[in-house]
Amino acid sequence: MDCIFCKIVAGEIPSVKVYEDDLVYAFMDISPINKGHVLVIPKEHHHSSSTVPEEIGGRMFHIGSRIGVALKRGLDFEGFNLHLADGTCAGQVVNHAHLHVVPRGVEDGFHWNWRQLEYAAGESAETAEKIKNKLKL
Ligand code: 5GP
Ligand code: ZN
Repeated sequence: MDCIFCKIVAGEIPSVKVYEDDLVYAFMDISPINKGHVLVIPKEHHHSSSTVPEEIGGRMFHIGSRIGVALKRGLDFEGFNLHLADGTCAGQVVNHAHLHVVPRGVEDGFHWNWRQLEYAAGESAETAEKIKNKLKL
């Protein structure tokens, strides 16, 4: 399969490893938002986070959070963002699910473009119903 992250896991494309176990691989992002930006990926190929099994997804989150703490302790950051883009419209460029661990500082000059829409009366509950009706676990 022509997947750059599968090739990184296989060692066919070089990467700077931060952590590896039986389920996940973590390495330095080549174009960091802040220096220390790490990617945590499942070793097995999944295009979407939605097909990643619970055990592997849980490991990704756990390791991502622990790496976030290491970014604070080791690189003097004050916090971190965990970010996952699922789908091209959401900003996913590499089609192998990956969790970004982005170290953050109070004045690091980076801002999420996070808007805040408002619901009309009842619209939030109606929207929740549509979600609940399609939720398959
Ligand atoms: P996405 O936009 O899909 O959520 O994020 C893909 C990330 O992978 C980007 O932050 C990009 O810098 C990183 N990336 C893409 N190609 C490579 C690569 O060959 N090596 C490494 N280390 N990171 C990569
Ligand atoms: Zn892959």
